[in-house]
Amino acid sequence: MKEGRHYLKLGRNVQCKICPNNCLLEPGDRSHCRNRVNHDGTLYTLAYGNPCTFHVDPVEKKPLYHFLPGSRTFSLATSGCVFRCLNCQNWEISQRKPEETKDPEGEPLRLRPPLPARLTTSEMARLSLFPDDVVAVTEALGCPSISYTYSEPTAFFEYTQDTCRAAHERRLKNILVSCGSIEERPARDLYQHVDAAHVDLKGFDDAIYRKLNSGRLAPILRTLQVLKELGVWFEIIHLVVPTYTDRLEVIQRMCAWIARELGPDQPLHFSRFQPQHHLTHLPPTPLETLRKAREVARAEGLHFVYVGNVPGMADAGTTWCPDCHKAIVERDIFAVTRLDITDGRCRFCGAKISGVWS
Ligand code: SF4
Repeated sequence: MKEGRHYLKLGRNVQCKICPNNCLLEPGDRSHCRNRVNHDGTLYTLAYGNPCTFHVDPVEKKPLYHFLPGSRTFSLATSGCVFRCLNCQNWEISQRKPEETKDPEGEPLRLRPPLPARLTTSEMARLSLFPDDVVAVTEALGCPSISYTYSEPTAFFEYTQDTCRAAHERRLKNILVSCGSIEERPARDLYQHVDAAHVDLKGFDDAIYRKLNSGRLAPILRTLQVLKELGVWFEIIHLVVPTYTDRLEVIQRMCAWIARELGPDQPLHFSRFQPQHHLTHLPPTPLETLRKAREVARAEGLHFVYVGNVPGMADAGTTWCPDCHKAIVERDIFAVTRLDITDGRCRFCGAKISGVWS
């Protein structure tokens, strides 16, 4: 256990102020995100140093298309999440307590280089990776960045923040893959150590946000504005869920807001829904809906609009120069197959292309 940050002591009760859930916990209570407990009037996180999964991924898998293209990123997660999405694709870890994904009785195992070829399930369940260990492992694997992903880094805030700091000391980059549901003060505290973010904008209708994700729209929009103000590179993903978030007039309003508040160079990824978790009765998003959503976004003036989870769709992952309209980056699923950007500029006309390219 490690003491939490951004919380209030109210006698023997505590109130967490990291995300808009603002959990008020009596002694012995467990938080909504499952990672925090009130122990004798002090708030503790159980997630610190306790990743339940890690992998090396292409950065395009986050997805980030305008950040260090073609690089690999060391990706890790603990259990727990601030949301309860009906369509969660990682519910086995996001909707679990730390002690359900780890072996709390086992002898702790720390991972330091040299790395073993593989870890057994039992070793993984006993694994502790503290911030310096994560950095050492990332360097040993030759990755230029660390991604806090799969579940929700806001729910393992302290572990993310300390690892981000340790990573920057070694000149590694930090990537957050987040739902964006975080209060403004901890957001500013955390994102000063972050180089890139992928934020899910799961809809543009507060009632749908409540129903589909158990969240609220306004805090996510505020997080996007704060990221813009802080100068953190970020890309937005919108999962198009049939009957929930596929109404084109709502998508049109969302795109208009993005263009107005964040600018036309803000990348937006539409992602195809696949039936899972509590929504197995719904069909995958029709390709025609995704094509129309992309047209709507472009009509609102957005320059970088992508479609994900659709192998075989022409141009789904192509970046077009907004000035000369030539294809400058082509991707095949998560692989970059062509890159015509030099020093952040289009190789054909010299226009500056938004992103972090090297
Ligand atoms: S981070 Fe967790 S404990 Fe804190 S308010 Fe959000 S859900 Fe509650």
